Amino acid sequence: MDLLRAAGRILAEPIAADRDIPPFPRATRDGYAVRAADLATLPARLKIIGEIKAGPLPTQVPSTLNRGEAFSIMTGAPVPQGADAVVMVEYTSLQQDSVEIIKSIVPGENVVAQGAEAKRSSLVLDRGTRLNRAAIALAASVGKSRLQVFVRPRVAVLTTGDEIVEVDAAIGTTQIRNSNSYSLAVQIQEAGGQPVLLPIAPDEPRRLRQLMEQGLQSDMLIITGGVSMGRYDLVEPVLAEMQAEFFFTGAKIQPGKPVVFGRVKCGLCGAGALAREGPSAPVSQKTPHKYFFGLPGNPVSTMVTFELFARPMLEALAGMSPRPLTFLHARLKSEIRVKSGLTRFLPAILSGRYEESQAEPVPWQGSGDIATQSRATCYLVVPPHREQISAGEWVAVMLC
Ligand code: AMP
Ligand code: MG
Repeated sequence: MDLLRAAGRILAEPIAADRDIPPFPRATRDGYAVRAADLATLPARLKIIGEIKAGPLPTQVPSTLNRGEAFSIMTGAPVPQGADAVVMVEYTSLQQDSVEIIKSIVPGENVVAQGAEAKRSSLVLDRGTRLNRAAIALAASVGKSRLQVFVRPRVAVLTTGDEIVEVDAAIGTTQIRNSNSYSLAVQIQEAGGQPVLLPIAPDEPRRLRQLMEQGLQSDMLIITGGVSMGRYDLVEPVLAEMQAEFFFTGAKIQPGKPVVFGRVKCGLCGAGALAREGPSAPVSQKTPHKYFFGLPGNPVSTMVTFELFARPMLEALAGMSPRPLTFLHARLKSEIRVKSGLTRFLPAILSGRYEESQAEPVPWQGSGDIATQSRATCYLVVPPHREQISAGEWVAVMLC
């Protein structure tokens, strides 16, 4: 696939350096290429024997530097043989055909040695790497204009609930527009999958099962709503009827406690995208199962549980090397009090720069409050044993 189109995708081939990086000892400053030993006594006066700029080497100047000599040199240019350091122009003054230098230097200063960043033929990008801006730049720098990437898994999204209606539909007072399918579609895309939105399932077992079976044609199925303890929460019973294997049916978190994760044997499932369209991730090759998540329907619960549980699974299916969830730290701006027992994820706004990062919890109406969530920039993570955290304490935050 074309280099730019591969941005954000997962690399399916190892990439090696086609030559040493840098391919020559590279000057990192504008100044003078010198022998460090010539600057033992200061100020030192060296004879300028030529100029080297980035690009083709000049032919009319000597190629080697001897005692008492200097080359004028520009950032990015090859340091000539005989020179072992570059003095910044700021520490020099030009005097006709010589330069006076007022600062000593150690060998290697302001020079990146040939091959110091990567040796020729060494691995620079491994299979399973997500192609971020630096990875794309690195691929370009080793001459790869096309990259092989893994197929993006298809992830079916099934929203459930008698009260849920589509965005464009005429709506009654007690009805709720489907927003979860859309937040999930965004999260799936961000995690490297292709969302497949299914029609909304009513709280009725037969139709629900029919739509779940349709969802299992994809590589993974994410259901939202219908996993709590209510009489019309039918997702778990219908999955159980389909002989699903449950890995867990709840987590000690809030929001998101009723989250469900499991798999279904593939008698009923289609091939999915992975088996059809090209190189697929090792995890997903020949698996006789399809994985599913049942995420609670409250919009913030859906978003949080996707990040914590569904994203890592989807990344594995997409071929990405496993990585831990990342948490940052910030100082709490104002005191929080919660009930202990569950790890809590509270919407918050980050501010402050560098080591002054602060997190301010935003007042919210609970896990149905998308308006507050849309203003938040992170979740503040409260560990289960804490009931109170004072302003000024360090807290963990997860970006959102
Ligand atoms: P449930 O998990 O089915 O009990 O739903 C919990 C809450 O989330 C209820 O208030 C639902 O109306 C709401 N909800 C469920 N699904 C969606 C959805 N797709 N979009 C927006 N809200 C939803
Ligand atoms: Mg429901």
